[in-house]
Amino acid sequence: MFKDLYHTVFPKVCYGCSTDLAKTETWLCSTCKTNLPITHFHQLSTNPITQIFAGRIPLIQASSFFYFVKESAVQHLLHALKYNNTPKLGTAIGEWYGEELTRDGAFETIDSIVPIPLHYAKQQQRGYNQSTMFAMGLAHLLHKPLDDKSVLRNIATSTQTKKNRAERWENVADVFSLQAPEMFRGKHTLLVDDVITTGATLEACANKILQVEGASVSIATIAFAKL
Ligand SMILES: [Zn+2]
Repeated sequence: MFKDLYHTVFPKVCYGCSTDLAKTETWLCSTCKTNLPITHFHQLSTNPITQIFAGRIPLIQASSFFYFVKESAVQHLLHALKYNNTPKLGTAIGEWYGEELTRDGAFETIDSIVPIPLHYAKQQQRGYNQSTMFAMGLAHLLHKPLDDKSVLRNIATSTQTKKNRAERWENVADVFSLQAPEMFRGKHTLLVDDVITTGATLEACANKILQVEGASVSIATIAFAKL
């Protein structure tokens, strides 16, 4: 019975390659974990993530943990995180990254960690926000508070498809609002999300925060997908 219970709590096969996991392994076998495509972007003041936002918004620091590679362990992990009801996987990835960041002293000056809120309907369907789980793992290792209350995602009022490009942009800009602007006054916020591609969502959210006096922002995501 305990063995069955153990297997429902922890996956028995590797999410990367489907081989059986050893007792000491969780989520990934040691081979897949060693071969994860880590970017090490946090060691560079200029990197592909800071370049996404260059000339758009001022950031203190920006990084992604992994390169998003199709059919790789990273894709399998992200897929499981979204669709397999595995919130603890998000926390585990946050802790793996937190370990790496702490070792290199990255994001040391942040005051809090804020996950990008999920669409209300998606959160209801999934039962959790994968970015919040990732943020939780980071918060644990970086010894910084998680703040998943101060930013709100507004409920969409009209369909995006019927709008022209300019109107869509306006819509993105209005996606977020601040529940508690005072939480950002004079503070350095680490905004986190799962995957970054164009950065439009992170930019919209960062812009809201940067409207607050003395606020500064850094960005970290699980994966970086090249366009
Ligand atoms: Zn494996």
